[in-house]
Amino acid sequence: MREALFYKKEGERVICTLCPHRCSLRDGQIGACGVRVRNGDKLHTLVYGKLASIAVDPIEKKPLFHFYPSKQILSIATVGCNMFCKFCQNYTLSFFDGKGKTLNIYGQDVMPERLVEIAISYDSMGIAYTYNEPTVFYEFIKDTSILMKQSGLKNVWVTNGFIEEEAQLSLKGLVDAVNNDLKFFSDKKYKKYTGGRLRPVLETLKRWKKMGVWLEVTTLIIPEVNDDPAEIDDIIDFILNELGDETPWHISRFHPHFKMANHYPTPPITIRKIRERALEKGLKFVYSGNLWGDEGENTYCPNCGKLLIKRTGYNIEEYNIMNSKCKFCGYKISGEGL
Ligand code: SF4
Repeated sequence: MREALFYKKEGERVICTLCPHRCSLRDGQIGACGVRVRNGDKLHTLVYGKLASIAVDPIEKKPLFHFYPSKQILSIATVGCNMFCKFCQNYTLSFFDGKGKTLNIYGQDVMPERLVEIAISYDSMGIAYTYNEPTVFYEFIKDTSILMKQSGLKNVWVTNGFIEEEAQLSLKGLVDAVNNDLKFFSDKKYKKYTGGRLRPVLETLKRWKKMGVWLEVTTLIIPEVNDDPAEIDDIIDFILNELGDETPWHISRFHPHFKMANHYPTPPITIRKIRERALEKGLKFVYSGNLWGDEGENTYCPNCGKLLIKRTGYNIEEYNIMNSKCKFCGYKISGEGL
């Protein structure tokens, strides 16, 4: 067990200040994420170096489409999550056995130094903190990220964006790229389907930009839940006005899962229409997700319209960017390592 970095004592309570839940804990109590516990006047993380998942993935799987295309990245997770999504695709990690009841967290012990060695041995461009929510294993990521930067490697977050400002800002210079979900544009729906809230996520998204981190945004489109044109327009407007028209937006198709196993999958036409709408409104890079072989997986030049990157799933089949510019018209394509 390691001492947590963000908490404070207020009267009889110890308050975790890592994420906007701000769990107020009695002695011995475990936070809502299932992986932080109060011990006396201190707060401890239960998942420092406790890896529950490790794999090498293409960077496209995160998804990041404008960050070192086709490179491989070591991807890791612990258990635990600070959201409780009814449609969670990794619920065995986020809602692990005994969540909130046990201090005995499963996972293989791997310390930061060893993890960096593993990344290098796999010739990985970096490490992606993914599969479960990185915020809940913050201390381990921070220590690892410092070593990664010293080795010239990249740190990537795949996150729900539910993190407090101080914790996020203290990652400045330690995060290179982020895929951050924007699941709904409704506080009510955030609460109902995820247990989170909208406003903190919007603030997190804006801060990544200010921190100079490469940002891509993902929205899982669930039929009759968040496919309403007005809500879609709100998301598009937020990205356009607050994050910039060159911010890639991934719109993913929902498949029945977890507590929403009886809900029907998103019809492909819905994804295609939303993509068209976003392009019409001015977003330059809009991608369909979970729609294998769809034209929306490709990157097109916003200036001349020519095909820049042809993708099928995570594979790149054609590549027409040179020195970060469209090979045909010279238009500068936003991103890193293009
Ligand atoms: S990180 Fe965990 S313990 Fe801390 S406030 Fe969030 S849910 Fe609660």
